Amino acid sequence: MKTTVLKFGGSSLADSSQFRKVATIIGSHEGTNYVVASAPGKRSKDDTKVTDMLYSCYNLAVSGNDFVAQLNAVKARFSSIASDLGVSFDIDAEFNVICSHLEDAPEKDYMASRGEYLNSKLLAAYLGYDFIDPATCIFFQPDGRLNAEKTNDCLTRELTGKGRAVVAGFYGTGADGKIRTFSRGGSDVTGAIVARAAKAAVYENWTDVSGMLSADPRVVDSPLPIKEISYKELRELSYMGASVMHEDAVFPVRSAGIPINIRNTNSPEDEGTWIVPHRSNVAESGSVVTGIAGMKGFSSIRVEKAMLNNEVGFAARLLNIIASAGVSFEHVPSGIDTMSVIVDSNDLRSCRSQILENIQEQLEPDSIIVDTGIALIAVVGIGMVYRKGVAAKVFSALANADVNIRMIDQGSSEINIIVGIDEADYEKAVNALYSAFFK
Ligand code: ASP
Repeated sequence: MKTTVLKFGGSSLADSSQFRKVATIIGSHEGTNYVVASAPGKRSKDDTKVTDMLYSCYNLAVSGNDFVAQLNAVKARFSSIASDLGVSFDIDAEFNVICSHLEDAPEKDYMASRGEYLNSKLLAAYLGYDFIDPATCIFFQPDGRLNAEKTNDCLTRELTGKGRAVVAGFYGTGADGKIRTFSRGGSDVTGAIVARAAKAAVYENWTDVSGMLSADPRVVDSPLPIKEISYKELRELSYMGASVMHEDAVFPVRSAGIPINIRNTNSPEDEGTWIVPHRSNVAESGSVVTGIAGMKGFSSIRVEKAMLNNEVGFAARLLNIIASAGVSFEHVPSGIDTMSVIVDSNDLRSCRSQILENIQEQLEPDSIIVDTGIALIAVVGIGMVYRKGVAAKVFSALANADVNIRMIDQGSSEINIIVGIDEADYEKAVNALYSAFFK
């Protein structure tokens, strides 16, 4: 029998009408279903997420201010869902525990986790499912990273025999025995962990968009949706800012070969995007490029030195100076007597003079030039491997749009071409590339 893990994000569970949609979606799935729930999100554009309200309860409590009104506002969100749905749920008892916690010794992660804890308990009661508290089966290491194997063993045991259960997203137990959360949006990671432990056939990630788009809709007008994307392509695009789920959610399911299907709770008939281990029909589908993504805010440190190409270890020393300042680099385009290192401008800001002094002292270059205001754009697609003319198309599209290319990088995997351009040209360049490959 097929096992499905369905994760619902905050907007999918923001109020009772969303709960009803979720129940219908779950009801249409046969077989074994495990559900992972987020805390109630925004009901409208100007609304506040319950997780943010909980963080503010915590902030008020630790600063010795009155948190009661804010906590009551959180309670009202859950009370209205429970009463609209006619679910009997002892909200007073739950909030008495939370209130004493805030009075006695408030803990940030514990407070943040209560949104998922309560929403999942409520959803389980509404569906007639078992509730699984991840405090008992998701574990973190002392360094804060997930203890993946201990979690997988424990969660597998916990799920076995429970055909239908709701697991609260976003948190688990730290090495010190206290509640610990993932970073924001971390219920996506919980969903992936549950999918792995359940050996699910598919991890359905239900949100409020019908999958990933082939370009940023704030830059390109109505970009086409992506029907299928491999884990590798997703990684390249999300690194460049295209986000549809928490980045860490890929790892547990990727190693287990489980596909992810991004779906829209408000439009369940849409197929959404399939994120798969390998794409087999790329050649037939004819799509060369899967998506385009990019970001502004990069700087280039360009170092010039005559006969640089003969100096053994120059690149290693340059990168070491940058690493010692705690800055990670994005790309290292180099020429015969020049080497540039592209870094995030925000990372560079506080240590720029230290880096430049060290380069001057240790490498004795002829010149060092720092250019700011660079945008990077990645054109990503497994279909471009071994295909001729893709780079030519990228460069002629940019040339025709009168965009000057300041850096070019093609990873050896050949699934991406990255260009560096002036930030001022960013929107124009993304649109030119989109038109070249998708229109
Ligand atoms: N509720 C948490 C957040 O707002 C976690 C999640 O929704 O995945 O970030």
